[in-house]
Amino acid sequence: MERFFTSCMGSMPRSSELMRARRLVEAGRMEAADYGILVEQQTAEVLAMQERLGVDMVVSGELGRDNYVSFISEKIDGVTQMSMAEMMDHIEDKQAFDEILNTLDVPAVSIKNAICTGTLGYTGDIVLEELRMMKRHTSLPIKITMPGPYLVTRSMWLAEVSTQGYTTKEDLGEAVLDIYRQEIEALMAEGVDLIQFDEPVLTEVVFTEGKTRTFMCASLSQRKDPTEELEFATHLIKTARGFVDSSKTIASLHVCRGNWSKKEEILLTGPYTPLIQLFADVAPDMLSLEYSTPRAGELDAFLRDPRILDSPIKLGLGIMNPRLDVAESVEFMVERGREAADIIGPDRLALNPDCGFATFSNRPVNTYEHIEAKVANMVTAAKILREEYAER
Ligand SMILES: [Zn+2]
Repeated sequence: MERFFTSCMGSMPRSSELMRARRLVEAGRMEAADYGILVEQQTAEVLAMQERLGVDMVVSGELGRDNYVSFISEKIDGVTQMSMAEMMDHIEDKQAFDEILNTLDVPAVSIKNAICTGTLGYTGDIVLEELRMMKRHTSLPIKITMPGPYLVTRSMWLAEVSTQGYTTKEDLGEAVLDIYRQEIEALMAEGVDLIQFDEPVLTEVVFTEGKTRTFMCASLSQRKDPTEELEFATHLIKTARGFVDSSKTIASLHVCRGNWSKKEEILLTGPYTPLIQLFADVAPDMLSLEYSTPRAGELDAFLRDPRILDSPIKLGLGIMNPRLDVAESVEFMVERGREAADIIGPDRLALNPDCGFATFSNRPVNTYEHIEAKVANMVTAAKILREEYAER
């Protein structure tokens, strides 16, 4: 890909028509095939929008996914979708869990979690069909997003029921990796330009110091030493990353701090510094990180760390806040791009929003009107940066 290539992070708002159709399918009043046709039509529109705006690499919008991780319950055997209320039945410290949900502004009644309730089985598709669908509607380079293997293992493990399939979460992790190997091989065979692993829970591990407040991972509330947890995460992500053949496909790792609410104060704050060793060990081709708000700490200090600076890792620089209605100015984006390019060089830089625009289907953080304005500015910023750095 060329310098400063632009892309979105994955999720886009679902239309009310699509949300309604999904409810009808769940109630048994609409055929899944008809729902699939609707998803494809609207995905084609999302692709056309990106193409019209001049984005260099397109995403699907994840329109067919309930949320960025729970959708796997529909794709992998041995996984059951549970509401927060259903999970409550299995969680020992109910009061603490309830408090977490309240403080975090989490729509507990509507968010579903994929929970391991048996032995996992690969059915031949996690995001493969989504990739094939995209190829029917675009000839632009494609980014396919997958919940990272650590996120998947952590969020699926609810000891009270998951032991029906596996003795420990480590055993579950190996089963997840086996499925990821098969899926990634299938994606590579189909041909894809970039595979992005989403690992937002990593920031929970390093910033909450055991006093977890995550709602995606019930079992994180069993207090754990972050060092041990990071070793486990490194093993899972590094292994999955190894399944991607970097000579054909960019292996990208996206780490953010939660993106489900517009209330900035409840989202996590803190620099990526405690994760640098994990980044170095995993050695992805690219890291997509959020840098549009002060939440992420100093870009300069992060990029100057020798484990990043002296590595070949590309940076997908987050230059817009998906939760903010107003479009960040072109000048702001160019300035951020310059700041990074002057340190790691223009060849190692791509531009993207901090995160998706609708991580949860029932809780988009923005509208298409605003998204288009923001993305258009990003495309302009990339053009300006390419001209500026043409001689360098
Ligand atoms: Zn994110």
